[in-house]
Amino acid sequence: MSLSQLARTIHESVTLKLNQTAALLREKGEPVIHLGGGEPKSKTPLDAIVSCTSVLNSGDIKYTPPDGIPALKKAIIRYTEEHYGRAVRPENVVASCGAKQAIMAALIAILDPKDEVIFPAPYWVSYPEMVKLAGGVPVAVKPEDGTFYPTAREIADCIGSYTKAVILNSPNNPSGVMYSRDFIAEMVDLCAKKSIYLLMDDTYNRLVFDGKSPINCYDFSKEDLEGSKLLVVNCVSKMYAMTGFRIGWAVGSRDLIGTMATIQSQQTSGPATPSQWAAVGALNGVQNSIEALRMTLENNRNILLDHLLAFPGIRVTKPEGAFYCFPDFSNYEKNSQKLSEFLLNKVRVVTVPGKEFGMEGHLRISFCGAAKEITEGIERIRWALDPTSPNELYLGDRRLVRDWM
Ligand code: PMP
Repeated sequence: MSLSQLARTIHESVTLKLNQTAALLREKGEPVIHLGGGEPKSKTPLDAIVSCTSVLNSGDIKYTPPDGIPALKKAIIRYTEEHYGRAVRPENVVASCGAKQAIMAALIAILDPKDEVIFPAPYWVSYPEMVKLAGGVPVAVKPEDGTFYPTAREIADCIGSYTKAVILNSPNNPSGVMYSRDFIAEMVDLCAKKSIYLLMDDTYNRLVFDGKSPINCYDFSKEDLEGSKLLVVNCVSKMYAMTGFRIGWAVGSRDLIGTMATIQSQQTSGPATPSQWAAVGALNGVQNSIEALRMTLENNRNILLDHLLAFPGIRVTKPEGAFYCFPDFSNYEKNSQKLSEFLLNKVRVVTVPGKEFGMEGHLRISFCGAAKEITEGIERIRWALDPTSPNELYLGDRRLVRDWM
C-alpha cells in the first residue's frame, strides 16, 4: 500500500483505541473497569436535547455557515463575556467540530513547514500528532524539577526562530494540575513580546476543585483582540458532558478566526447542524449541570486520592481540576505501556500509558466514572502490584491468585 510520508508518521489516538478495547472486552462479558476514559458519565443537559430535537423535528437540516450558526455564535459571545469578561464580535468566533477541530484549524492556519509549536509535558496525546498533521514540529518541554509545572523560563529557553506558537492546557490532561496565575500571566506576556501565538486550551477550565476559580488569560493581555495572538479554545464536550455532539469553538483575532473558518469550509463545511443547536441549548439553558458535574468530579478525585495515597511506592500529584490523575508507578515498572497492558491482562483495568503523554513511568487514571469503579479499579491495581496485599482477588465470581511475584 502506498501511503503518504505524513500519514506514516501519525499515530492513532491511544485513548480512543482503549475505549474500543474496553468495549470489546465488555462485550465478551469481561469485568472491565475503565479508568482510561476521557468523558463524564452524566447525561446531556435537557435544554440541549430540547433545542437539538426541535431542529430535528423540523426536518429542515441544511448546511450552516462554516464558522457556525448565528445563534451559536451569539451564545459563545455571551459565554465569553460572562466567563472571560471580554466583549467579542461574531467575526472573533468560530464554532468547530469539537475543540479538536478548532485546534487543528488554528495550527493549519498558522504553521509553515518546520515551524515549531511548544507545549509542556505531560501533554494531551493529540498535540504532537496535530502539529505534525499541520506540517509543523512539536516541541515538548518537560519541567526539570520533576513536577508537572513548567516555568516560564523553561518555555522561553525553547523559543527559537521557528517557534510559532505555545499551547497551554490547564487544568491539564493528563495530570489534572492547574498552572498558576503567575505562570499564565508570564506566558501571555512572553508570547506577546516574542510575537508568537498562545493557544489556551480551556477545555477543562470550569471543572476546577478546592474552591479555585478558572484562570482567565485575558486578565493579563494588554493588547486588544485584533492585535493579539491569543486564541482561546473551549467546547461543550466536557463541561456539559456532550462529547458525542462534537462542538467546540475558538475566540481570537478576526484575521486568524476568518482563516480558520475558511479552512473549516474546505474540511467539513462546518459542524453538524443538530449539534450546533444542541450547543446553543446547553450554553443558553439552565447551568446547574456544570456545578453538579464539578462536585461529583471533586468527590471522585478525593476518593481516588485517598486510595492512591495509601498505595505504597507510587508518587501522586493532587489533581486540581479536570478528571485525570497521573501517578508515577516507576517503582513498580518503568515501561508504562508494559504496565498498562499487564493491568488490563491480569485485572481487567484500563489505564493509559504515560508514554503517550510524554512521561514514562506514569499512568493516566481517569476519575470521570462511578466512585465504586474508581475504588475497585485502584484496589485491583494495588492487588496486582503490591506484594503486601492479600494473595487472592475476586473479579465477579472468578477467583484470581497472584502468581507473578
Ligand atoms: N483538549 C484537550 C486537553 C482534551 O483533553 C480534549 C478531549 N479529550 C480536547 C481538547 C478535544 O475536545 P473535543 O472532544 O471537544 O474535540
